[in-house]
Amino acid sequence: MTGKVYLVGAGPGDPGLITVKGLKLIQQADVVLYDRLIPMELLAETRIGAECIDVGKLPTKHRLSQDEINRLLIEHAQQNKLVVRLKGGDPFVFGRGGEEALACHAAGIPFEVVPGISSAIAVPAYAGIPVTHRQITSAFTVFTGHEDPTKPESSIDYAALAAAARLGTLVLLMGVSHLQDITTRLLAEGIPPETPAISIEWGTTPQQRTVEGTLATLPEKVQSAGLQAPALTVIGEVVNLRAMGLAWFG
Ligand code: SAH
Repeated sequence: MTGKVYLVGAGPGDPGLITVKGLKLIQQADVVLYDRLIPMELLAETRIGAECIDVGKLPTKHRLSQDEINRLLIEHAQQNKLVVRLKGGDPFVFGRGGEEALACHAAGIPFEVVPGISSAIAVPAYAGIPVTHRQITSAFTVFTGHEDPTKPESSIDYAALAAAARLGTLVLLMGVSHLQDITTRLLAEGIPPETPAISIEWGTTPQQRTVEGTLATLPEKVQSAGLQAPALTVIGEVVNLRAMGLAWFG
Protein backbone atom coordinates (compact mmCIF):
# COMPACT_ATOMS: atom_id res chain seq x y z
CA MET A 1 0.00 0.00 0.00
CA THR A 2 1.24 3.47 -0.74
CA GLY A 3 0.06 6.68 0.85
CA LYS A 4 -0.39 9.95 -0.91
CA VAL A 5 1.48 13.20 -1.22
CA TYR A 6 -0.44 16.48 -1.05
CA LEU A 7 1.41 19.54 -2.32
CA VAL A 8 -0.30 22.21 -0.24
CA GLY A 9 0.01 25.98 -0.55
CA ALA A 10 0.25 27.57 2.92
CA GLY A 11 -0.49 31.11 1.74
CA PRO A 12 1.76 34.15 1.99
CA GLY A 13 2.27 34.54 5.76
CA ASP A 14 -0.98 35.43 7.53
CA PRO A 15 -2.03 31.99 8.89
CA GLY A 16 -5.66 32.80 8.07
CA LEU A 17 -4.85 32.76 4.37
CA ILE A 18 -4.62 28.98 3.92
CA THR A 19 -7.46 27.20 2.10
CA VAL A 20 -10.06 25.13 3.95
CA LYS A 21 -8.85 22.07 2.04
CA GLY A 22 -5.22 22.72 2.95
CA LEU A 23 -6.02 23.18 6.65
CA LYS A 24 -8.02 19.92 6.77
CA LEU A 25 -5.09 18.05 5.24
CA ILE A 26 -2.66 19.49 7.81
CA GLN A 27 -5.02 18.29 10.54
CA GLN A 28 -5.10 14.76 9.06
CA ALA A 29 -1.45 14.42 8.02
CA ASP A 30 0.87 11.70 9.29
CA VAL A 31 3.85 13.78 8.26
CA VAL A 32 4.28 17.42 7.24
CA LEU A 33 7.39 18.52 5.34
CA TYR A 34 7.47 22.30 5.50
CA ASP A 35 9.42 25.24 4.15
CA ARG A 36 10.95 28.28 5.78
CA LEU A 37 8.26 30.70 4.57
CA ILE A 38 5.14 28.97 5.83
CA PRO A 39 3.20 30.51 8.74
CA MET A 40 4.56 28.39 11.62
CA GLU A 41 1.20 28.69 13.47
CA LEU A 42 -0.15 26.14 10.99
CA LEU A 43 2.04 23.40 12.48
CA ALA A 44 0.05 23.69 15.72
CA GLU A 45 -2.90 22.30 13.71
CA THR A 46 -1.25 18.89 13.23
CA ARG A 47 -2.62 16.00 15.26
CA ILE A 48 -0.74 14.48 18.20
CA GLY A 49 1.84 12.06 16.89
CA ALA A 50 2.19 13.68 13.49
CA GLU A 51 5.76 14.24 12.39
CA CYS A 52 6.81 17.74 11.27
CA ILE A 53 10.03 17.97 9.26
CA ASP A 54 11.72 21.30 8.44
CA VAL A 55 13.11 21.04 4.93
CA GLY A 56 13.36 24.82 4.57
CA LYS A 57 16.09 26.43 2.61
CA LEU A 58 17.90 29.57 3.66
CA PRO A 59 18.88 31.97 0.86
CA THR A 60 22.54 31.08 1.25
CA LYS A 61 22.45 27.60 2.72
CA HIS A 62 20.32 24.72 1.48
CA ARG A 63 19.33 22.64 4.47
CA LEU A 64 18.19 19.74 2.25
CA SER A 65 18.75 19.42 -1.48
CA GLN A 66 15.73 19.17 -3.76
CA ASP A 67 16.65 15.52 -4.46
CA GLU A 68 16.69 14.77 -0.74
CA ILE A 69 13.28 16.41 -0.31
CA ASN A 70 11.88 14.41 -3.23
CA ARG A 71 13.29 11.22 -1.73
CA LEU A 72 11.77 11.97 1.69
CA LEU A 73 8.34 12.59 0.16
CA ILE A 74 8.48 9.29 -1.69
CA GLU A 75 9.84 7.27 1.25
CA HIS A 76 7.13 8.51 3.61
CA ALA A 77 4.38 7.86 1.05
CA GLN A 78 5.74 4.34 0.49
CA GLN A 79 5.11 3.74 4.20
CA ASN A 80 1.40 4.25 3.56
CA LYS A 81 1.36 7.74 5.08
CA LEU A 82 -0.67 10.83 4.34
CA VAL A 83 2.14 13.22 3.45
CA VAL A 84 1.61 16.99 3.35
CA ARG A 85 4.26 18.99 1.58
CA LEU A 86 3.56 22.49 2.89
CA LYS A 87 4.97 25.34 0.84
CA GLY A 88 4.78 29.12 1.12
CA GLY A 89 2.23 30.85 -1.10
CA ASP A 90 1.22 28.62 -4.00
CA PRO A 91 3.19 25.42 -4.66
CA PHE A 92 3.38 26.04 -8.40
CA VAL A 93 4.50 29.70 -8.30
CA PHE A 94 8.29 29.62 -8.00
CA GLY A 95 7.82 26.87 -5.44
CA ARG A 96 9.36 23.86 -7.20
CA GLY A 97 6.04 22.08 -6.70
CA GLY A 98 6.20 20.89 -10.29
CA GLU A 99 9.51 19.16 -9.65
CA GLU A 100 8.14 17.40 -6.60
CA ALA A 101 5.00 16.32 -8.47
CA LEU A 102 7.14 14.94 -11.30
CA ALA A 103 9.26 13.02 -8.78
CA CYS A 104 6.09 11.50 -7.26
CA HIS A 105 4.82 10.59 -10.72
CA ALA A 106 8.12 8.93 -11.64
CA ALA A 107 8.02 6.88 -8.42
CA GLY A 108 4.39 5.85 -8.92
CA ILE A 109 3.22 7.80 -5.87
CA PRO A 110 -0.27 9.33 -6.10
CA PHE A 111 -0.37 13.06 -5.44
CA GLU A 112 -2.74 16.01 -5.34
CA VAL A 113 -2.08 19.73 -5.59
CA VAL A 114 -3.85 22.14 -3.23
CA PRO A 115 -3.23 25.64 -4.59
CA GLY A 116 -2.44 28.44 -2.20
CA ILE A 117 -2.76 32.20 -2.18
CA SER A 118 0.44 33.41 -3.77
CA SER A 119 2.46 36.21 -2.23
CA ALA A 120 2.57 37.66 -5.75
CA ILE A 121 -1.01 38.92 -5.38
CA ALA A 122 -1.63 38.82 -1.62
CA VAL A 123 1.40 40.81 -0.47
CA PRO A 124 0.57 43.74 -2.79
CA ALA A 125 -3.06 43.50 -1.59
CA TYR A 126 -1.99 43.82 2.06
CA ALA A 127 0.08 46.86 1.09
CA GLY A 128 -3.02 48.44 -0.47
CA ILE A 129 -2.13 47.68 -4.09
CA PRO A 130 -4.44 45.86 -6.49
CA VAL A 131 -2.21 44.20 -9.12
CA THR A 132 -4.77 45.17 -11.75
CA HIS A 133 -7.03 48.20 -11.86
CA ARG A 134 -9.44 49.07 -14.66
CA GLN A 135 -8.15 51.79 -16.99
CA ILE A 136 -4.63 51.53 -15.57
CA THR A 137 -3.65 47.96 -16.43
CA SER A 138 -4.54 45.13 -18.76
CA ALA A 139 -1.99 42.63 -17.46
CA PHE A 140 0.27 41.78 -14.59
CA THR A 141 3.55 39.94 -14.91
CA VAL A 142 5.28 37.98 -12.15
CA PHE A 143 9.00 37.35 -12.61
CA THR A 144 11.97 36.20 -10.59
CA GLY A 145 15.19 38.04 -9.87
CA HIS A 146 16.88 34.91 -8.62
CA GLU A 147 17.52 32.39 -11.30
CA ASP A 148 19.00 28.94 -11.08
CA PRO A 149 22.70 29.78 -10.59
CA THR A 150 23.69 26.84 -12.82
CA LYS A 151 22.17 28.58 -15.84
CA PRO A 152 24.99 29.65 -18.15
CA GLU A 153 23.59 33.13 -18.74
CA SER A 154 20.60 35.14 -17.65
CA SER A 155 17.48 34.06 -19.50
CA ILE A 156 15.48 37.04 -18.22
CA ASP A 157 14.36 39.05 -21.24
CA TYR A 158 14.30 42.60 -19.89
CA ALA A 159 13.04 44.03 -23.19
CA ALA A 160 10.01 41.74 -22.89
CA LEU A 161 9.51 42.85 -19.29
CA ALA A 162 9.64 46.50 -20.36
CA ALA A 163 6.97 45.72 -22.97
CA ALA A 164 4.88 44.01 -20.28
CA ALA A 165 5.27 47.10 -18.08
CA ARG A 166 3.54 49.12 -20.83
CA LEU A 167 0.52 46.83 -20.43
CA GLY A 168 0.42 46.77 -16.68
CA THR A 169 2.08 45.79 -13.43
CA LEU A 170 5.38 44.00 -12.81
CA VAL A 171 5.79 41.91 -9.66
CA LEU A 172 9.34 40.85 -8.82
CA LEU A 173 9.86 37.86 -6.53
CA MET A 174 13.19 36.86 -4.99
CA GLY A 175 14.89 40.00 -6.24
CA VAL A 176 15.56 42.18 -3.22
CA SER A 177 19.32 41.55 -3.16
CA HIS A 178 19.65 42.17 -6.92
CA LEU A 179 17.26 45.11 -7.04
CA GLN A 180 19.82 47.62 -8.30
CA ASP A 181 20.89 45.42 -11.24
CA ILE A 182 17.32 44.57 -12.14
CA THR A 183 16.01 48.14 -12.08
CA THR A 184 19.04 49.35 -14.04
CA ARG A 185 18.23 46.86 -16.79
CA LEU A 186 14.55 47.79 -16.80
CA LEU A 187 15.43 51.48 -17.06
CA ALA A 188 17.82 50.69 -19.93
CA GLU A 189 14.90 49.03 -21.76
CA GLY A 190 12.89 52.23 -21.54
CA ILE A 191 10.62 51.96 -18.53
CA PRO A 192 10.23 55.58 -17.33
CA PRO A 193 12.37 56.27 -14.22
CA GLU A 194 9.45 58.00 -12.47
CA THR A 195 7.34 54.80 -12.58
CA PRO A 196 6.02 54.17 -9.04
CA ALA A 197 7.63 51.21 -7.28
CA ILE A 198 7.43 49.64 -3.84
CA SER A 199 9.19 46.82 -1.98
CA ILE A 200 7.31 44.90 0.71
CA GLU A 201 9.06 42.73 3.30
CA TRP A 202 7.25 40.01 5.31
CA GLY A 203 3.95 41.02 3.71
CA THR A 204 0.63 39.97 5.31
CA THR A 205 2.37 39.46 8.70
CA PRO A 206 2.67 41.80 11.71
CA GLN A 207 6.30 42.42 10.61
CA GLN A 208 5.24 43.82 7.23
CA ARG A 209 7.47 46.72 6.12
CA THR A 210 7.25 48.77 2.96
CA VAL A 211 9.63 51.09 1.15
CA GLU A 212 8.20 53.27 -1.61
CA GLY A 213 9.84 55.21 -4.39
CA THR A 214 10.19 55.23 -8.13
CA LEU A 215 11.95 52.75 -10.38
CA ALA A 216 14.98 55.06 -10.26
CA THR A 217 15.02 55.75 -6.49
CA LEU A 218 13.80 52.49 -4.98
CA PRO A 219 17.00 50.39 -4.84
CA GLU A 220 18.89 52.91 -2.73
CA LYS A 221 15.94 53.38 -0.37
CA VAL A 222 15.55 49.62 0.01
CA GLN A 223 19.21 49.27 0.78
CA SER A 224 19.28 51.99 3.40
CA ALA A 225 16.15 50.57 5.04
CA GLY A 226 17.86 47.17 5.13
CA LEU A 227 15.00 45.24 3.54
CA GLN A 228 15.78 41.57 3.11
CA ALA A 229 14.12 38.39 1.89
CA PRO A 230 11.29 37.57 1.94
CA ALA A 231 10.39 40.71 0.04
CA LEU A 232 8.79 41.45 -3.29
CA THR A 233 8.67 44.53 -5.47
CA VAL A 234 5.72 45.98 -7.38
CA ILE A 235 6.38 48.32 -10.32
CA GLY A 236 3.60 50.28 -12.01
CA GLU A 237 0.92 52.93 -11.71
CA VAL A 238 -1.19 50.73 -9.39
CA VAL A 239 1.30 51.52 -6.60
CA ASN A 240 -0.25 55.03 -6.43
CA LEU A 241 -3.60 53.58 -5.28
CA ARG A 242 -2.03 52.90 -1.90
CA ALA A 243 -1.75 56.62 -1.16
CA MET A 244 -5.28 57.18 -2.53
CA GLY A 245 -6.84 55.41 0.46
CA LEU A 246 -6.17 51.71 -0.09
CA ALA A 247 -3.45 51.22 2.56
CA TRP A 248 -5.75 49.30 4.88
CA PHE A 249 -3.37 46.98 6.72
CA GLY A 250 -1.22 47.72 9.74
N1 SAH B 1 5.43 29.95 -3.86
C1 SAH B 1 5.59 31.27 -3.27
C2 SAH B 1 6.81 31.98 -3.80
C3 SAH B 1 8.12 31.29 -3.47
S1 SAH B 1 9.52 32.22 -3.96
C4 SAH B 1 4.32 32.08 -3.48
O1 SAH B 1 3.46 31.70 -4.29
O2 SAH B 1 4.17 33.10 -2.80
C5 SAH B 1 9.86 33.13 -2.48
C6 SAH B 1 9.66 34.60 -2.73
O3 SAH B 1 8.30 34.95 -2.60
C7 SAH B 1 10.38 35.49 -1.73
O4 SAH B 1 11.73 35.66 -2.06
C8 SAH B 1 9.60 36.78 -1.89
O5 SAH B 1 9.96 37.47 -3.07
C9 SAH B 1 8.19 36.25 -2.07
N2 SAH B 1 7.48 36.19 -0.80
C10 SAH B 1 6.97 35.09 -0.20
N3 SAH B 1 6.36 35.42 0.95
C11 SAH B 1 6.48 36.76 1.09
C12 SAH B 1 6.03 37.70 2.07
N4 SAH B 1 5.35 37.33 3.14
N5 SAH B 1 6.34 39.01 1.87
C13 SAH B 1 7.02 39.41 0.79
N6 SAH B 1 7.47 38.57 -0.17
C14 SAH B 1 7.18 37.27 -0.03
